[in-house]
Amino acid sequence: MAKKLQKIKRPWIVDRVPFDRERRDDDFDYNGRRWRKVRAQQLDLFPCCCDCEAEGITTVATVADHEPQVKVLIARGDDPYDMKWLMSRCKKHHDSKSGREAHKGYGVKSR
Ligand SMILES: [Zn+2]
Repeated sequence: MAKKLQKIKRPWIVDRVPFDRERRDDDFDYNGRRWRKVRAQQLDLFPCCCDCEAEGITTVATVADHEPQVKVLIARGDDPYDMKWLMSRCKKHHDSKSGREAHKGYGVKSR
């Protein structure tokens, strides 16, 4: 068996700091049976990405996205499993939207 490599401390190498991005702080169960069912239903009823449709192209949606963020819904006391809060999006549009939301206020923060 291979020997485990020892970690060598090199003081001239700066430790990596995780990118300053808002962590998920909701405790929504994205792996729960109920969510998987609602997600499948949403993608069944609305199989095309809504943002792509707005751009005039048709793309298969793969993500059921909460329109106000989940943590907003939970904070307001709304049911995050209600399909009226869901939008079908392709991965590209979903990631760009959640990226924008995660970095909201970034750069405005005082350091
Ligand atoms: Zn799209």
